[in-house]
Amino acid sequence: MRRGRKPNLRQRRHIEHLRARGQSLAAIARQLGISRQAVNEALQRRPLPSRPIVCRQCGAMIAPVGGSAGTRQLVCRSCLARLPRAGFALRLASLRHAAGFTQEALAQATGVKQSTICKLESGRHEPRPATYQKLLAFLEHSQKARA
Ligand SMILES: [Zn+2]
Repeated sequence: MRRGRKPNLRQRRHIEHLRARGQSLAAIARQLGISRQAVNEALQRRPLPSRPIVCRQCGAMIAPVGGSAGTRQLVCRSCLARLPRAGFALRLASLRHAAGFTQEALAQATGVKQSTICKLESGRHEPRPATYQKLLAFLEHSQKARA
């Protein structure tokens, strides 16, 4: 166990993600090889996002936590299905949150760079057809796996 090391931002996100999944401080500490104290400090520095993400169209819950100013425009899967002309940025962000993935986790799972996912979700980037297919196919599949 490494003592006295402060978790960096990336690690803090990871800690919050694990915590949001219901893992105990001790389990997170073990998994990341840091002290429980470090886990606790990381969580206190930035409080856990505890607001739900809700659909802007129908108000249905998309995810129980993670709500922020940036998630207010998201829509649930059913509403998305009724919006065939919804842009890729909205589609990707909505599906990703519904599937319970961070940008980082989605990047790891699909091999698409996190910075690319970030740009795609903000609409600053249009996806190449292969990237489009890969991301949406993955999120559709993970929906089935979770259902
Ligand atoms: Zn909806």
